[in-house]
Amino acid sequence: MLERSNELTAWDRDHFFHPSTHMGMHARGETPTRVIGGGDGVYITDTTGKRSLDAFAGLYCVNVGYGREKITDAIAEQAKNLAYYHAYVGHGTEASIRLAKMIIDRAPEGMSRVYFGLSGSDANETNIKLIWYYNNILGRPEKKKIISRWRGYHGSGVMTGSLTGLRLFHNAFDLPRAPVLHTEAPYYFRRPDRSMSEEQFAQYCADKLEEMILAEGPDTIAAFIGEPILGTGGIVPPPKGYWEKIQAVLRKYDILLVADEVVTGFGRLGTMFGSDHYGITPDLITIAKGLTSAYAPLSGTIVSDKVWQVLVKGSDELGPIGHGWTYSAHPICAAAGVANLELIDELDLVENAGSTGAYFRAELQKAVGDHRNVGEVRGDGLMAAVEFVEDRDDRKFFDPAAKVGPQIAAALLERGVIGRAMPEGDILGFAPPLCLTREEADTVVKATADAIGSVLGR
Ligand code: PMP
Repeated sequence: MLERSNELTAWDRDHFFHPSTHMGMHARGETPTRVIGGGDGVYITDTTGKRSLDAFAGLYCVNVGYGREKITDAIAEQAKNLAYYHAYVGHGTEASIRLAKMIIDRAPEGMSRVYFGLSGSDANETNIKLIWYYNNILGRPEKKKIISRWRGYHGSGVMTGSLTGLRLFHNAFDLPRAPVLHTEAPYYFRRPDRSMSEEQFAQYCADKLEEMILAEGPDTIAAFIGEPILGTGGIVPPPKGYWEKIQAVLRKYDILLVADEVVTGFGRLGTMFGSDHYGITPDLITIAKGLTSAYAPLSGTIVSDKVWQVLVKGSDELGPIGHGWTYSAHPICAAAGVANLELIDELDLVENAGSTGAYFRAELQKAVGDHRNVGEVRGDGLMAAVEFVEDRDDRKFFDPAAKVGPQIAAALLERGVIGRAMPEGDILGFAPPLCLTREEADTVVKATADAIGSVLGR
């Protein structure tokens, strides 16, 4: 076992170009290679035999947990019957058609069609192209700019990396490089003026958005994209009243709203969609991760009836839409999606995400909320974060070079629990599988308190 592990580590360092990894340090062996060999429930096991409770569900995607035979059987059966056929020119498979229907049945009001892709990034590319197409059909060729938020995350492509509002994803890639503007992050803990109430801060964000629209010219702004709750940017729920105020501004200037529900879709906040949870009425919705619980790569753009009617008009003028992926609606992935959505219903995981999520966040608050270096414990549903500060009274942040967040995540891993050091700020994030039990939540909370104590003292 150990020999195999050493051999894999050597091959890894020499040949595997890892995403989101320090290239030099990894190639030189200064950062660990961890080879994951198995998974069961909320646990993964590496090839040295170490078992860890995965409190980030991979990359907040393994929502039903690991090792679900219902899904692996569905994948195997589909692969045997028909591993692939494309979806161009009206083709489909039973799995892809059935899945489209299941998604619309679960989606917020007014949603009409699903365009399938493979990743959250490509689904957002599809969104932007559909938005441009939409405005061209409506005879508004100037209305093309997209507003996203600082700290938003929408993917890693050229367009979607531009939409993402995190410097790490722009640096040295010449991004943003598309007609993209970034507005205020709805991050109450980091509000510019600490005397602001949540409602006042929400109003401030809406005012900033309106100022930007007016400065650019409303006729040039096509859409606004946002995650219902900021994810990779720090797991930050919106301040009270935020979405209501933002939507009022968008309606005033006839700007489409894209809800990026790659993380929140299919139950993570205790409702099927985050839009249901926060009272958002989107024109387009991005889905991925929880659609198949990552048993196979699959994403989608859900198109509202309002947008669909215009697109159809376009096809009557322009012919077939010139946008397609080879693997769109891949039958193996679609079969995984059908089985996954059935399992979410059978196990009542949406309800569990809400109730166990509330329990987990309350216990986390009790265990670490009063620590002198914890600025805030926050979250919603089964998403939670602990933000660390050098001084909580002054809200003074640590020097990023001290890497407090990554040190705490490493100490947590030593204690057998996986959390994620979020990329900007010293923030430890959690987004466990939706099947998490209260006992497992207790394990995560205890390990977190110990890990914090070991790095920052009690
Ligand atoms: N949108 C959101 C909200 C995400 O969190 C992510 C991935 N973390 C993406 C889009 C991009 O998805 P992918 O990595 O599958 O391209």
